[in-house]
Amino acid sequence: MYDTFIGLEIHIQLLTKTKVFCGCSNNYGDEPNTNVCPVCLGYPGTLPVLNTDALFMAYQVVGALKCKRAEAAIFERKNYFYPDMPKNYQISQFADPVGINGEVIFPFQGEEHRVRIHDVHLEEDAGKMIHAGDMSLLDYNRAGTPLLEIVTEPDLRSGEETEAFLRYFRTLVRTIGVSRGNMEEGNLRCDANISINTHGAGLGTKVELKNINSSRFVRLALEYEKERQIGIVEAGGSVDQETRLWNENKDITVVMRRKEESKDYRYFPEPDLPPYRPGEDFFRRVEESLPELPLDRQKRMEAAFSLTDEQASYLCEEKARADYFEAAVAAGSEAQHLYFWMSGDLAALVNKSGTPLEESRLSPEKLATVLRLLDNGAIHGPIAKKMVALLFEEEHDPEGLIAERGWKALDDTSKILPIVKKAVDANPSAAEQLKQGETKVLGFFMGQVMKETGGRADPETAKALITSYVKGEIV
Ligand SMILES: [Zn+2]
Repeated sequence: MYDTFIGLEIHIQLLTKTKVFCGCSNNYGDEPNTNVCPVCLGYPGTLPVLNTDALFMAYQVVGALKCKRAEAAIFERKNYFYPDMPKNYQISQFADPVGINGEVIFPFQGEEHRVRIHDVHLEEDAGKMIHAGDMSLLDYNRAGTPLLEIVTEPDLRSGEETEAFLRYFRTLVRTIGVSRGNMEEGNLRCDANISINTHGAGLGTKVELKNINSSRFVRLALEYEKERQIGIVEAGGSVDQETRLWNENKDITVVMRRKEESKDYRYFPEPDLPPYRPGEDFFRRVEESLPELPLDRQKRMEAAFSLTDEQASYLCEEKARADYFEAAVAAGSEAQHLYFWMSGDLAALVNKSGTPLEESRLSPEKLATVLRLLDNGAIHGPIAKKMVALLFEEEHDPEGLIAERGWKALDDTSKILPIVKKAVDANPSAAEQLKQGETKVLGFFMGQVMKETGGRADPETAKALITSYVKGEIV
């Protein structure tokens, strides 16, 4: 049998206002070559200045990944030529990264798995080359934007586990607030290395998979590559150390080039950036800024609110979602009832509108009010649904809305009965079916009554009245 070893190099774009060594905007999606200056284009005679916001975020990640932090930020030049890198070198870190020897504990198939972090280093991104017809265009907006590279040890064992790790890692960086962490948008990019070997024999020959742009492709590419390598070894061959690309149209990996060694890059100290020592106050602020980690929060919320693993995991996937839940509980909501609404109606509204939960008009306190009104019978389910949808979009007072729109629950039998009679009398064949015991027809009549009352009728009362009237128990 074989062991599989998977390690990752993850790049995240940091959410700073400006680039890492100059004052240009770090805004994504602007017109090409509008966020550029002599510094990020590497004109002779210009000097880089470290953006300490980027360094602050780098140390937040270092803290969250439980790394040993460097007391000073030391930069080096990584020399290589590429058309999207005007300086012919990239300012990066090599010998002294901002953090080393960390770990991430993440949930996978109901268990806690651990991945060791080799190092975390801060660097600048390159520009972007766009191929259009027979032309190659260069956009330097991205040149000099802050990137954090996180290198893991080869502790992952399968494509599926790697996908789960990346999903957790995304939640982690979003929770800290340092990156959007979205692979599809390119603000989280990932290379993977994978080797296999006969069980117990340690690491095999490493193959690197480059630029995989979705977490699903990470899983597919790694599973494919694992089988390919096993196939070579079983046939008596040996795996070449090389870099391969994932071909998403054919679902295979294809060779790109033989691996370069880091010595090929010629690193040397960046003479224009002296080591930067942030000081105690800076490090204290970094520590104070760190939120509860998603897995810790998940476990705490599971216990505190009697949630299942799955429920707590859903809530903690987004910090804003977990914050919202806890605020609504604090405002008096019962946890399961609240979860039901958040994962149902509210999730659908977020999806449909594209408005993030935290930007909707429906505050946790207002949702708690709606659920309380529902609980004490002031409104019924269909009205609560309408209210939630309306409050999500517009500014209203939930209690005021009831009076304003005439949404108060209708429990009064003498008011519901005439509506029931009208619906049943107008549909004699359906009434006969119900009388014969076809309970499915009850839904049809409920629909009629709810339509007529604008969803205000008490469902239990209405059901009882329909059944009795059809059977002739009331006239
Ligand atoms: Zn610039």
